[in-house]
Amino acid sequence: MAEILPGVHQVEGVDPSPEFSTHVYLLKDKGPTWTLVDTGLPGSHAAILAYLAKLKVEPTAVKKILLTHLHRDHTGGLQVIAERTRARTFAHWIEAAYLAMDPKYDGPGSLPTEPFRVDETLKDGDSVDAAGGLVAYHTPGHTPGHVSYYQPEHKLLFTGDLLIGQPGDEVILTVPDFTHHTPTAKISARRMGQLAVDSLLTYHGGPVLHKGGPALRALLDKLR
Ligand SMILES: [Zn+2]
Repeated sequence: MAEILPGVHQVEGVDPSPEFSTHVYLLKDKGPTWTLVDTGLPGSHAAILAYLAKLKVEPTAVKKILLTHLHRDHTGGLQVIAERTRARTFAHWIEAAYLAMDPKYDGPGSLPTEPFRVDETLKDGDSVDAAGGLVAYHTPGHTPGHVSYYQPEHKLLFTGDLLIGQPGDEVILTVPDFTHHTPTAKISARRMGQLAVDSLLTYHGGPVLHKGGPALRALLDKLR
C-alpha cells in the first residue's frame, strides 16, 4: 500500500519510468467515499483500477475526480476512469473549455487527443467537499487554467505541475519547455507561499512530506 499520509494514497504502477514519475493521488473522504487527483498517462486506468481493487474499494466509491490541468500525462486515464467510477469531474473553467477543445489549446505540453466535458467548473477559492475539505486555487502559468488543491486541516497542497519535486526535499518551479507563461507561474508559486503548508504533493518528483513549507520558501527565495 502506498498510503503516504493518513488518507492520502499515491497510486502504484502509474509511473512510466523512475526518471518520469507521475503521482496520481487517491484521497479518502470523511465518509466511505474517495477522491482522485489527476488520472495519469493514457493507459493509467488499469493501474488505478488495480490499486482500488487492492484496497478493496469499489470503483463507484470514487465520487470525484479533480483535475489540475489538461496535459495528457494528467488526463490520460480520465475517460475510462470517469466511466468506470461514474465520478463527477472537476476542472477550472478555463481548463474545462480547453479540455472540451472549445477552443483547442495552443500552448506547450502534450495534449489530450479527444475532447472531454467536465461535470463541474471551478473558480479560484471554490471549496470542494472532498478529502475533509479542499480549496481550489487558480494557479495559472503552467497552463492558463491550472489549479492547485489545498487541504487546510492537514496543510496539504496538491500542486499539479506548478511545482516539481526534487531529491532532498526540494522543489523547483514548473519547467519552461512545457509551460505557457513562466512569470505567471512564479506569481502563482508566490501566492501559494502565503499558505501554511506541511506537505507538498507534487505530481512529478517528490512529494515533499512534512517539509513542504521550508521547501516552498527556499524556492521563493531563489526566484526573488
Ligand atoms: Zn503539465
